[in-house]
Amino acid sequence: MEVDILLVGAGPASLACALHLCQLVRRHNQAVEQGGQGGNRLEIPSLMVIEKGREIGAHAFSGAVVDTRGFDELLEGFEGEQVPYDGPVTDDALYLLSQTGSFRSPITPPPLKNHGHQVASLGRIVRWMAELCEKNGVDVFPEFPAVELLYEGNRVIGARIGDKGRDREGRPKANFEPGLDVQAKITVLGEGPRGTLTLQAQRRLELDAGRQPQIYAVGTKEVWQLARPVQPGVVYHTLGYPLGTREFGGGFIYTFHDNLIHVGFVVGLDYADPTTDSQRLLQQFKAHPFVSDILEGGKPVAYGAKAIPEGGYYAMPRPYADGLLIVGDSAGCLNSQRLKGIHLAVKSGMLAAETILDSLIREDASAEVLKGYVDRFEKSWAHQELWKVRNFRQSFQRGFWRGMVHAGLQFVTGGRGLFDPMPIQAGHTLMTRYTQPAAGEVTHPLPAPDGKLSVDKLTDVYYSDTAHEENQPCHLKVLDLDICINRCTYEYGNPCQHFCPTQVYEILRLDGENRLQINFANCVHCKTCDIMDPYQIIVWTPPEGGGGPGYRNL
Ligand SMILES: Cc1cc2nc3c(=O)[nH]c(=O)nc-3n(C[C@H](O)[C@H](O)[C@H](O)COP(=O)(O)OP(=O)(O)OC[C@H]3O[C@@H](n4cnc5c(N)ncnc54)[C@H](O)[C@@H]3O)c2cc1C
Repeated sequence: MEVDILLVGAGPASLACALHLCQLVRRHNQAVEQGGQGGNRLEIPSLMVIEKGREIGAHAFSGAVVDTRGFDELLEGFEGEQVPYDGPVTDDALYLLSQTGSFRSPITPPPLKNHGHQVASLGRIVRWMAELCEKNGVDVFPEFPAVELLYEGNRVIGARIGDKGRDREGRPKANFEPGLDVQAKITVLGEGPRGTLTLQAQRRLELDAGRQPQIYAVGTKEVWQLARPVQPGVVYHTLGYPLGTREFGGGFIYTFHDNLIHVGFVVGLDYADPTTDSQRLLQQFKAHPFVSDILEGGKPVAYGAKAIPEGGYYAMPRPYADGLLIVGDSAGCLNSQRLKGIHLAVKSGMLAAETILDSLIREDASAEVLKGYVDRFEKSWAHQELWKVRNFRQSFQRGFWRGMVHAGLQFVTGGRGLFDPMPIQAGHTLMTRYTQPAAGEVTHPLPAPDGKLSVDKLTDVYYSDTAHEENQPCHLKVLDLDICINRCTYEYGNPCQHFCPTQVYEILRLDGENRLQINFANCVHCKTCDIMDPYQIIVWTPPEGGGGPGYRNL
């Protein structure tokens, strides 16, 4: 199959790219017709967006407080269209939590000031964007997972969609449908964090040469339905409990209309303790009196988890190659200081669209022309924003207090601080060896799941509405099982059992031997295993189309 532009992933970055390109081509043609611009009229390019989720929005997971700057620019010219935000931020604050106490910071640090921004569900936004795309002639296909890039030499010429209907051993079943090869002049990767094709391209084309390693966090979130009225638009961030001073992260509580509360916890994936467990941290956070009072009388209705690329400017890979552009989280376009990436994803998609227009006019999709994407980025407000925080996340790799001092210095020096660039290590390299807790020692105090406030992992999997066809090849490839059983058990205590927020990995004792069981049907596609495995032997690959979480309005 051939199209002009193939966009992989229906997140805000790809969809903004498709929408903006439609508009730019229209504007270009109008200008040519009116004689105000040289050059020829362009054929309307064929645009195809593919998404692995069962429907658009099924894998959309965020906070989300949206800085409206990106969408404001995108919608210029789409008259009458409005982003389906939940509503404006009505109150924001930073709380510092000890084990039982809480303290409202008298000032909200500028990066966490959210007045003027909008609270939103990313799922609702991308569904609306996809509909707008379709109204503008873009083809949007859910259940289409791209599994690899197609090349001619080192020029990207499209992507291969995964087969559907293979059994556990990879044999075709009665419903077998072979995947398509989609050829395109330009392929845009907007796969979100730790994209499969993005990583492939990065390795083959050395897109990360000379860059810092990307580091990530993982965010888990539950949506709670309260019976009592809740003021919408409240945005609270927290620091402290249940994290110690070594790890980076914190909690968030955002309130929505219909008495919904989104309660989430983010932890940096560069922690030392191999028993760190993001779902458990969320349960500990909810059990804190400050949070449990807010959730009093409510019940969870949804759950999800997802990685966040936090490395910032110095960790961004080269986002172009012959026939290839990379946008949004896949390009590392996220401000970890503000926990915001949606506006940057939208802006990067728009800058990619402007570059594609140029390439269509010049009938040239070589790296030489697509490099214009970086030039446009460097002149944009997105670059200005990321440049000011270029050393922020790096500062926190050696502990919270050191991080605060460096962050303060960076704030007054426009991001420079004491060292520029400040060094950083890939997160998995910082995990320390597992030590057995002493007899009777409780390492992570956690209320037993009571089905009310505290929820176990499998119940949370249920709330995520996750489903995969069970009779298909396991999409989580462990490259060396021997390492899992004969080294990892002794060296790190099999941290996969802890870092997976949906209990995909279990070590079972069978016939006197340890065995790794992979419950891949539980996977919510957060990518934590691919990122945090200390030996880097877990490879996350896209399962057959439609598998994964079924998020509604997360
Ligand atoms: C817990 C949490 C809280 C956050 N809070 C905020 C916030 O308050 N404000 C804010 O601005 N940002 C926030 N962010 C960040 C924000 O969500 C991201 O920056 C933004 O969603 C990035 O958009 P994207 O289009 O690049 O990627 P995504 O939104 O991740 O979309 C990528 C899409 O591509 C699909 N995909 C991936 N691989 C393939 C493939 N191979 N084939 C087909 N489809 C594929 C995925 O299923 C997904 O639908 C938060 C993130 C998390 C995890």
